[in-house]
Amino acid sequence: MWTRNSAFLLAIAFTTATPSARGLPVDDRVPGGIAVIPIGDMTRPEVYLEQQRVLVVGSPGRWHAVAGIGLDVTPGEISLQVGKPGAARRIPLKVLPRDYPTQHIQIQDQRKVEPLPGDLQRIELETARMAAVKAHWTELEDPALDLRQPVAGEISGNFGLRRIYNGQPRQPHGGMDIVAPKGTTVTAAAAGRVALVGDFFFNGITVIIDHGQQLVTMYCHLDRVQVKPGEALVAGTPIGAVGQTGRATGPHLHWGAYLNGAAVNPALLLGATSR
Ligand SMILES: [Zn+2]
Repeated sequence: MWTRNSAFLLAIAFTTATPSARGLPVDDRVPGGIAVIPIGDMTRPEVYLEQQRVLVVGSPGRWHAVAGIGLDVTPGEISLQVGKPGAARRIPLKVLPRDYPTQHIQIQDQRKVEPLPGDLQRIELETARMAAVKAHWTELEDPALDLRQPVAGEISGNFGLRRIYNGQPRQPHGGMDIVAPKGTTVTAAAAGRVALVGDFFFNGITVIIDHGQQLVTMYCHLDRVQVKPGEALVAGTPIGAVGQTGRATGPHLHWGAYLNGAAVNPALLLGATSR
């Protein structure tokens, strides 16, 4: 992947692209939320949550760890580890419960609700491929945390919804659904590098962008894609067009955001406050 040098040069490019609009996400310590934790160390701390490295931004004495809290985390006390594993100090934080609403969806193609045995094998491989990309750590000093919505439109499905497809409970909603006409341009939410382009059973035609330090965004159900893996993007670069590929009841963009491997509510990254 990136060398240290190219990551450094990109960091400069990203900084000049957005000189003043950089900020921190909303601190929302619930399953599917983000914990923003100030750390006063003089040197850049290495922070971990459950063995996963956590994104850190800031400057000496004024760091912030920005940790994704998985939707599957049980509310209660969890802790960040600051320092190398084995010699770390702990920062406890309290995860509050969040009661996400339920959404019922009718899908015409029953196979997208009850996949055939051959589909299951494909789904397993695709899930592993996407998980590997979301788990990849790319060094970058100062990732942009002020994301922009990749397409304008009405939100038809918020993050975290408990989903019932054709009467059967399935995985909770790991992103935000934005309705827009088929063919509407979809743009990169922030500067980054295209980590994966694929056509998946549930997600349809998909682009995943690596923004550095394991902040990753995902764009699904696309009609077409106009970027290639490895390509460097600035915020707002067109990456493709809204479609209805994969498991979708109409043209929309499923937009996902991930921190330290956990799906988090993308809306928290849109409400960035200046730091
Ligand atoms: Zn969705």
